[in-house]
Formats: sequence, structure tokens, C-alpha cells
Amino acid sequence: MLFIDDFQKIDAHIHFNANRTTIPELAEEYSFDLLTINTEVPEFPAISTQQERAIRYSNNSHCTIHHAATINTENILEDRWADKAILQIKQAIEQGACGIKFWKNIGMSIQRPDGSFLMLDDPELEAVFEFLERQQIPVLGHQGEPKNCWLPVDDMTVQSDKDYFSAHPQYHMYQHDEYPGYWRHIEARDNVLSRHPQLQFVGLHIASLEWNLEEVEQRLDRFPNMAIDLAERISHLYYHAREDRDHLIRFFKKYQDRIIYGTDIIDDPDTDPSDIVEELTHRWKNHWHFLATDKELSSPQVDAPFQGLNLPLSILEKVYRGNAMHWYQLSNK
Ligand SMILES: [Zn+2]
Repeated sequence: MLFIDDFQKIDAHIHFNANRTTIPELAEEYSFDLLTINTEVPEFPAISTQQERAIRYSNNSHCTIHHAATINTENILEDRWADKAILQIKQAIEQGACGIKFWKNIGMSIQRPDGSFLMLDDPELEAVFEFLERQQIPVLGHQGEPKNCWLPVDDMTVQSDKDYFSAHPQYHMYQHDEYPGYWRHIEARDNVLSRHPQLQFVGLHIASLEWNLEEVEQRLDRFPNMAIDLAERISHLYYHAREDRDHLIRFFKKYQDRIIYGTDIIDDPDTDPSDIVEELTHRWKNHWHFLATDKELSSPQVDAPFQGLNLPLSILEKVYRGNAMHWYQLSNK
């Protein structure tokens, strides 16, 4: 029997947005290092604040905190934006960033004057991807949303999506034909990877293909320099475990070098620290029971029990640490 603190792990997808050591202290207790991913979310602190904090806390006394940087897209439609973005990337990498994050505002929020949406495969971004490919700088991509976002609430597979999109109809794409469809986001991302076969790319959130393992497999086979992270989508794996556990175990075996663990916990300064501790402890323990044991499990996310995957230590070590080290080039940070 394996225990969660048996080996040093990395939670490779957090958002460290508060000036406190709540999460690093908990990480020390559970043998985690952390990777905080700077992201241009409107409710998050400014990119420069996120970057400065990540550097300041990188050597705190509790655990190592790695960080990925992002670029400012505010003037992306202006001439010479790409030059400025590349400069920003160079500075971030010099300051220790392990990669560059591209968020879903590209595809779902930034619009041209004619109302059309800027997509990841549009010419404005081409020089930036060329640079990142040439320099072998890892790219972290969150494009689109879970496919549930484009389905009626009753057809969604996991409870958190039902709750979220019921409460936020403005983000429920099923109700918004004026936005690009689900497959357009997938296609835009795939186009970038086809054009840049040497680009080191991590498709965050199971590359937004969380609903179908075959779709993930197709991309991983087609793009050898692509990996995925599991952040905020493990509930979808519960769903797959319930539907076809053997397939999911085969998936982890076949792609054991390309799957990266992360929770997507957000340390929002307005949240009580005890709530963060409770939520993150809950996630780390539940995910561990799911990946590392064969226990019969249940979750409010899915409507029937499912069984843990009981993955061997060699695979757990990769998913929980080795793959993040490799794909984000962390050993030389
Ligand atoms: Zn995130």
C-alpha cells in the first residue's frame, strides 16, 4: 500500500494569488512542490504582480514554487504586438519562468472591430509561436472549455459543470451561438501544433478533450511534443472510470510519460485560509485515492460509484512529478 507522502510530488497547476504561505505549508505536509501558472484572468492580480510574487516566494522555507509566465494580450491587434510579447517572454524566462501560458481569452473573449473572435491560429500570434518553437520554451495552452459548456445542462456529465453553467449562463456556450463553437477551439490549437511540430506544448485541462479518451489519444499520437495536464478535470476521469475503467488504465499506461498532475487550486486572498486548506486537502486526498488505490469511491461529481485505478508506483511517480520536471524543464530551474 502506498501513502500520499511516500514520495515528493508536484502540484503542477495552482494559482498562487495571495501573499501568504497557506498552500506552501500544506504542500510541505503532503510532500508537494508547486507550479503556479500566471494567467491573464480579469479577476486575478495584474500579470506583473503575479510574476513578482512567484519569484519572491520561489524559495520559501516550505517547498519549491516553480512558475509559468504569461503574456499581455491587451494590444494584441496592434502592429508590432508580437515583438513586445517576445520581449516579455524573454524577460520572464530570464527571471526563471518555466513556460508561457496562453489562456482561453484567445478564442472566447478578444474580438476584432468587426466582432469576430481572435483565435489561437490567427496570424497575430504566429511570430510568437515561431519564437517559442525555436527556443524550445514550453507552452501551456488552455483553449476552449469542457465540451459540457456547449451542451444543455441536463446532458452535462459532471455536477460541477451543471452547477457552474447554471449559475453563469453568460459563460454557457450552448446559449451563445455568436461565439466560436467547441470544435473551432480544438481545431485552432491543433493547427498551431501542426504548423510548429517542435513546439513543446502542454494541453491544460486534458487539452479540453476531457469528455472522450479516444480524442485525447488521437492528439497525443499525432503530436509527439504534446503532453496534457489533469487540472480541474479529474472529475471527468471519474466519469470515464465508471464507464470503462480498463480503458482509462490502458490510457495511463500507454501515455504514462505525457500526463501531468495538477489541481488548479486558486489561493484567492479573499478566501479564508482554513477554507483553502480544507479544499486542497480534500482534492489531494481524493485524487490520490483515485489514482493510487483500488478502493470503491464515490463523488458528488458523478451519479454512481467508481473504482480507483491502482496505478503502479512507477506511473504515479511520473504523473505526480517526473512528467512535470521533464515537460516544464524544471531540473535546470
Ligand atoms: Zn488554472
